[in-house]
Amino acid sequence: MPGERPKQYRDLCGKTVLRHALEAFSAHPGISHVQAVIHPDDAADFAMATEGLRLPAPIHGGETRQESVRLGLEAVAGGKPAKVLIHDGARPLVSGTLISRVITALDTRDGAIPALPVNDTLKRVDSEQIGETVSRDNLVRAQTPQGFRYDAIVRAHNAALGQSLTDDAAVAEAFGLSVATVPGAEDNLKITREEDLERAARILGGGLVETRTGTGFDVHRFADGDVVHLGGIAIPHSQSLSGHSDADVALHALTDALLGAIADGDIGAHFPPSDPQWRGAASDIFLRHAAGLLRARGGRLVHADLTIICEAPKVGPHREAMRARIAGILESEPGRISVKATTTEGLGFTGRNEGIAAQACVTVELPRT
Ligand code: MG
Repeated sequence: MPGERPKQYRDLCGKTVLRHALEAFSAHPGISHVQAVIHPDDAADFAMATEGLRLPAPIHGGETRQESVRLGLEAVAGGKPAKVLIHDGARPLVSGTLISRVITALDTRDGAIPALPVNDTLKRVDSEQIGETVSRDNLVRAQTPQGFRYDAIVRAHNAALGQSLTDDAAVAEAFGLSVATVPGAEDNLKITREEDLERAARILGGGLVETRTGTGFDVHRFADGDVVHLGGIAIPHSQSLSGHSDADVALHALTDALLGAIADGDIGAHFPPSDPQWRGAASDIFLRHAAGLLRARGGRLVHADLTIICEAPKVGPHREAMRARIAGILESEPGRISVKATTTEGLGFTGRNEGIAAQACVTVELPRT
C-alpha cells in the first residue's frame, strides 16, 4: 500500500490501524497478555501509536511473516500460555465477539480460525483472459485472529522452520493439527488498499467526511425605494431595504451560515462595510465567495434552509425563483435549498414593517481532518 508510513501506522478515525487492533485484544476479558511483533524500522511509529497503552515492549520480527510469528510465540513462552491467538495488525476492526469465538473453539480443537464463505464466482485468469471457472465448493476466506493450543503451534512452527507457508493455519495443517473454522466477520477486513481504509472508517461511523452545521442571521431596515432584493431576486415593492450592498438580507444570512459551518469568520470580516467597493454590490458575490471557500476545503453543501421574516413583500410567489437562484449561486440544486417565510404577527420591528430579518441554517460535509 503506497504512503509514507506502513499501513498499520496509518490513521483510522484518530488512531492508527494497529492501535485499534491492540486495544481490541487488550480490552478482551479472555486475553491476559498482548505481545506486538514489529519491524525494527517502525519502533518510533509503534511508540507513538501505542502511547498510553499498557503493553510489554514490542519484539522485532524476522525476515518473513512466519519467522516473525515464531519469534512472537517464543517471546510469550515465559507466561506458559494454554492458548494463543495470532492476529494481523492490519485488521483493525476485530470484534470482541470474534475473539471470544476463536478462544472458545480452542477448548476442543488444536486450532481455530475465522472464515467467511466465498460469495463471488472465482475465475482463474491468464493475463486478464479467463482461463477457467474455479469451483468455490468447500472454499472459504481465512481471517485472523488464528487461535491455537500454545504448545501445539510452537511445535508446528519449529517443524516448519525453513518452509514458506502462507498463514499459521497452514503451519498447523502441515504439522497435522486439527484446525476448525468459526464464523468470521465481514467487518474484520484487512487493510490492503486505500479504499479499505475508507471502508473501515465508514464502518467505525462517520467515515472520512464530517458533517457540520452553520447558522446565520441578518436584518436590514426599510428605506424609500421601489424594489427589494431578497433571495437573489428583485421584487418590486413600495420600499427598499437599506444597507451598504444591495441589502439582500436573505443572502447575507445564508453567507454567514456557510461561513459559520467552515468556522471562517463572518460576512463583515470578508467584506468590510467600510470598504467602498461593496457599496451597492449584488449580494450573490458574498454568497458565491463563501461557497468557494467551502469548495476550496474540499467540502460540499448538503442543504440550506432559509427563513425570511417580514410582513411584506409576500415571499410565496417568489419562493421557487429564489430556490433556483440560490442553487445557481451555490452551484447546488433547488432540491437542497429550502426557502420559508413567516410574519411575526404584527409584533416587533418586522411586524411594524420597519425592516426584514432572515435566518439560515446550512449543513455541509467536509473532509475529516
Ligand atoms: Mg446584511
